[in-house]
Amino acid sequence: MIDLHSHSTASDGALSPSELVRYAKDKELEAIAITDHDTVEGVEEALRTAEELDLEVVPGIEISAEFPEETMHILGYYVDFKDQKFINNISVLQKARAERNPRIVKNLQKLGINIEYDEILKEAGSGQVGRPHFAKVLINKGYVKTNQQAFNRYLKKGAPGYEDKFRFQPKDAISHILSAGGIPILAHPATLRCKTEEQLETEIKKLINYGLKGIEAYYSDHTNSQAKFYNNLADKYGLLITGGSDFHGHNVKGIDLGTGKGKLDVPYELLQKMKESR
Ligand code: AMP
Ligand code: ZN
Ligand code: FE
Ligand code: FE
Repeated sequence: MIDLHSHSTASDGALSPSELVRYAKDKELEAIAITDHDTVEGVEEALRTAEELDLEVVPGIEISAEFPEETMHILGYYVDFKDQKFINNISVLQKARAERNPRIVKNLQKLGINIEYDEILKEAGSGQVGRPHFAKVLINKGYVKTNQQAFNRYLKKGAPGYEDKFRFQPKDAISHILSAGGIPILAHPATLRCKTEEQLETEIKKLINYGLKGIEAYYSDHTNSQAKFYNNLADKYGLLITGGSDFHGHNVKGIDLGTGKGKLDVPYELLQKMKESR
C-alpha cells in the first residue's frame, strides 16, 4: 500500500515532515509522497528521514489554481525542490496566503468571534497557514465542534469568513511544475464539482493540452463509481492514475495515512508506472 497525498507542518498537516515519514514507516506503507500546499519547505527533511528509515518518499507539492466553482488543486510529483526559479514562482502563492489570512480573522471578528491572528499563527507554527488552522482554533475555542462545521459555517467559499486569494491559472500551475521537472496530476477531481461527467471531461482535456500527466482517481472522498469513471478517463486519454488520502494528521479528523476513511488501498503499481513515465 502507498499514499501519494499527504500534508506536514510545512503547510496544514499536524505532523512534522520527519514525523510523517516515521508514521508511514510504522504503518508499513511501501511509499508516500509529501504534498504540502504551495510549498516544498518540508521535502528535504522528509527525504532525510526517508533515507534513515529506508522508506521511499516522493517529493511533491499541491498547488492551488483558479477554478470557477471551487479551487483546483494540481499535484506536482518529483519537482526539483531546490530549483530556485520554481521556489520564486511559488513564493507568490505564499505571499497571497499571508495577505489573505488576516482578512479572514477580520471577517470572523466582525461576526462577533473572539479571535486574534496571533492565535492562528501559533496554531500553524512555522509552516504555511491554511484554513484548517482557522478551523482548529475555532474548535479549540468552542465555536464549532468539527473541522467540517468550521468550513460550512465560516470558511468555505461563500461562507461569511471566506476571503479569496491569488491563485495561478491552471495552465501556469502545470507549467511551473513541468519547468521544475515535475509530473502534474489533477488532485481529487470530485472537488471541482463539475455538474456533469461531460463537463469534467472537457476540463480535463484542456488540462491535458497544458501538459497534465494524470489524475488522482483514488482519494478518501471518492466513491467507487467516481474512481471507476476517473480510471476510464485516464485510459481514454493515456493519463497516469494516482491515489492518496490527503492525510493532515489530527488537523483533519477521520482520515488516516494509507487507508483514508477506511477503505483506501492504493497499490504500489501506480507509483511504478509514474516512475516509468519519467
Ligand atoms: P487554503 O489553502 O488555506 O485555502 O485551505 C485549503 C484547505 O482547506 C484544503 O486543502 C482542504 O483541506 C480544506 N478545505 C477547503 N474547502 C473545504 C470544504 N468545503 N470543506 C472542508 N475542508 C475544506
Ligand atoms: Zn490541506
Ligand atoms: Fe487538495
Ligand atoms: Fe491536500
